[in-house]
Amino acid sequence: MKTFTIGNYLVFNKRIGKGAFSRVYKGFHIKHPDNIVAIKQIEHDNITKLAKNIKREIEVMKKLNHMYILKLYDVVYDYDNNNIYLILEYCAKGDMTSFLNSRPLKEKYVKKYMYQLSEGLKYLYKHKIIHRDLKLSNILISDTNDIKISDFGFARYFDSDTMVETLCGTPLYMAPEIMKYKNYTIKADLWSIGIIMYQMLVGKPPYNAKTFYQLVKMIDKYKPQLPNGLFVSPECSDLLFSLLVKEPTNRITWENFFNHIWIKNYISESMMIENNLINIDF
Ligand code: AMP
Repeated sequence: MKTFTIGNYLVFNKRIGKGAFSRVYKGFHIKHPDNIVAIKQIEHDNITKLAKNIKREIEVMKKLNHMYILKLYDVVYDYDNNNIYLILEYCAKGDMTSFLNSRPLKEKYVKKYMYQLSEGLKYLYKHKIIHRDLKLSNILISDTNDIKISDFGFARYFDSDTMVETLCGTPLYMAPEIMKYKNYTIKADLWSIGIIMYQMLVGKPPYNAKTFYQLVKMIDKYKPQLPNGLFVSPECSDLLFSLLVKEPTNRITWENFFNHIWIKNYISESMMIENNLINIDF
């Protein structure tokens, strides 16, 4: 396969992904050919426009080290061609949109991914970081089927009671309080997590609107509902509908999300399975 060189990295010509401002390739460090990495090229046309966000993304990501957070190894600046290359942990199974492929997951798998998402977000929360752009395509899947939260372009440090007034995010996942141009609170990500959880359970989002305006109206008018015939445990339903609460003050808190019984049960259930396997081994 054809390759090109970026700093000390050899990059395969075939693109593995494309974002709004980026192209993603596979490659490796010339001294570590066994360690495949993802190389994200930030397109030059947008560098000036995005400079602030990119720098923030780099600073935030470099400091993070958690099994459910995508690792940023290195940054290569190509001044001649005005490109920035982020050298990232490679996720063999791509992003969650293509992983799900509009198919619903069984509740037990949704629980596993929600547990991993909550652990990753708990780590960010401890470091006073909000993501601000949580969506299926920002959740990558490793070769061991574990999630890696990615794309901190909009993340920033926050004080626990500071309101963030910037408008950002994708409408489908955007909390109603941001859509209506009210202040951005640290609870907005919890709405996006609710949309993600719904998509995992149902295979599609709770609202199917064509325009931003339609979406605002639909959220105002209709409470999200699970489709007829889809049955989930009461704990699962409790978490889902505590996240998808329109009014941020009534929405579940971060602490209650991290400690929700349905998520906590994941650990005890996997321990039980492990113990049973140990018993069978004996
Ligand atoms: P992004 O610019 O981060 O939105 O990335 C665009 C697409 O490239 C994603 O939706 C993924 O399919 C793919 N991609 C991004 N980062 C990685 C990675 N670290 N490993 C594998 N695929 C990736």
